Amino acid sequence: MSLPSKQVPRLAGWGGYPAAPAKLVRPERLKDFSLQEGVQIARGQGRSYGDAAICSEGTTILTERMNRFLDFDEETGVLRAEAGATLAEILTHFVPKGWFVPVTPGTKFCSLGGCLAADVHGKNHHHDGSFSYHVTQAVLVDGLDRPRVISPETEPEAFWATAGGMGLTGLIQEVSLKLQKIETSYVSVTHRAARNLEEAVALMEDPSKDDHCSVAWIDCLARGNSLGRSVVMTGHSAARNELPPDIQDPLATWHQGKLRVPFNFPGFALNPLSVRLFNQVYGAMQGNKNQFITHFDKFYYPLDGITGWNKIYGKRGFIQYQIVVPPSEGTKGMKEIISRLAGAGHGSFLAVLKKFGPQGQGMLSFPTEGWTLALDLPFNPKLLGFLNELDQIVADCGGRQYLAKDSRFAARHLPGMYPRLEEFRAACLVLDPLGKFRSDLSRRLGILP
Ligand SMILES: Cc1cc2nc3c(=O)[nH]c(=O)nc-3n(C[C@H](O)[C@H](O)[C@H](O)COP(=O)(O)OP(=O)(O)OC[C@H]3O[C@@H](n4cnc5c(N)ncnc54)[C@H](O)[C@@H]3O)c2cc1C
Repeated sequence: MSLPSKQVPRLAGWGGYPAAPAKLVRPERLKDFSLQEGVQIARGQGRSYGDAAICSEGTTILTERMNRFLDFDEETGVLRAEAGATLAEILTHFVPKGWFVPVTPGTKFCSLGGCLAADVHGKNHHHDGSFSYHVTQAVLVDGLDRPRVISPETEPEAFWATAGGMGLTGLIQEVSLKLQKIETSYVSVTHRAARNLEEAVALMEDPSKDDHCSVAWIDCLARGNSLGRSVVMTGHSAARNELPPDIQDPLATWHQGKLRVPFNFPGFALNPLSVRLFNQVYGAMQGNKNQFITHFDKFYYPLDGITGWNKIYGKRGFIQYQIVVPPSEGTKGMKEIISRLAGAGHGSFLAVLKKFGPQGQGMLSFPTEGWTLALDLPFNPKLLGFLNELDQIVADCGGRQYLAKDSRFAARHLPGMYPRLEEFRAACLVLDPLGKFRSDLSRRLGILP
């Protein structure tokens, strides 16, 4: 059935770059949905940074209305929900009942479908793996308009092609996610200062300092012996007896203040000097608070409290550069990348380092064992050439780019960075023999013919 559509002049991901005209449809209910004429791609909350959730040559299917909870099993913790449901909606409903999502990215404003399609990771990857590990099954409408129940047991090829497959195997209709029990909605956090990258990595590798979740925030403009100066933040879900007595409701959901960025900031607000100032202030502030209890919203989603924070990068937008390098590389590749960034004056508001555990089974899933570094860089045309140079360093150390963050890397790196690409293509040929699911990302990188 063809749905009413709307043409928009500009559709972009969270980074605002690139933007393209797009035709949108927004089915209200699962039963309204059937494959559209031509090519198409699903879009959840558009929190991927680049062009993964845009199909400028066909139709972009907004899934936000298909967000109902369908079933919850109190015994197993498995929630079955329509794929447009967001983590924010799940947390609002289930945290007061003592349940939390098992893996979460740094924003809760993303859909279940988007989390499975990008096989997202959180601060606990080294313990709990990526999102797909906790999905017991999903319903996928494939390229022949057939709803298929897929799971690691019943349809492993279809499932592991879909987990991390960036929407290219079909439209995910439903996701069954195993939630985790929590005693409180608070996190016990420890901050440790690291004088350079080696110290940060050593702290994160030290089992006596590991605490389920860990992440380092890096001042990526520090140079010389201080290269990689950071604050290492670890944390675990707090037990009731860890809460201070003044906390009345241990399972409170908490609504962060509605701080808003109302318009696109001028580009000059982001020159390297203001970035340097920001880094110093933030570094000092974080480093002084060593051990404390905080609400999960502050720990997992610090940026969600500022509505539309992506607009501070101005109309031209920004690029998030996220890579992973294998542990055999140690800190060499990361140091080279950070020092090139520091030298080139491409300041970054956010530089986040996380440790990944063993690789999962998703054919195109991003996480592989090693260190992942994510940086936000204001867009300017010179940046593109510079990032191409960094890509070569990443490729040379056997690393890879994250497709959900990408908006610009060169197609020639794809087969080396994603060695299971041919297996993925073969699975897509079965699921979508007519090639109905394509995105601007898949076209740009030649993921599928
Ligand atoms: C502030 C911020 C922090 C982030 N932190 C992290 C992080 O820590 N870890 C991490 O892994 N990611 C992180 N991300 C990226 C984000 O989690 C992923 O891009 C996620 O896919 C976004 O979900 P979405 O619903 O917005 O998906 P969209 O951006 O709308 O789509 C992303 C991909 O999923 C596909 N897709 C969406 N819905 C469906 C569906 N129903 N069926 C089939 N395919 C579908 C789209 O086609 C597209 O390829 C972060 C993003 C932001 C903005």
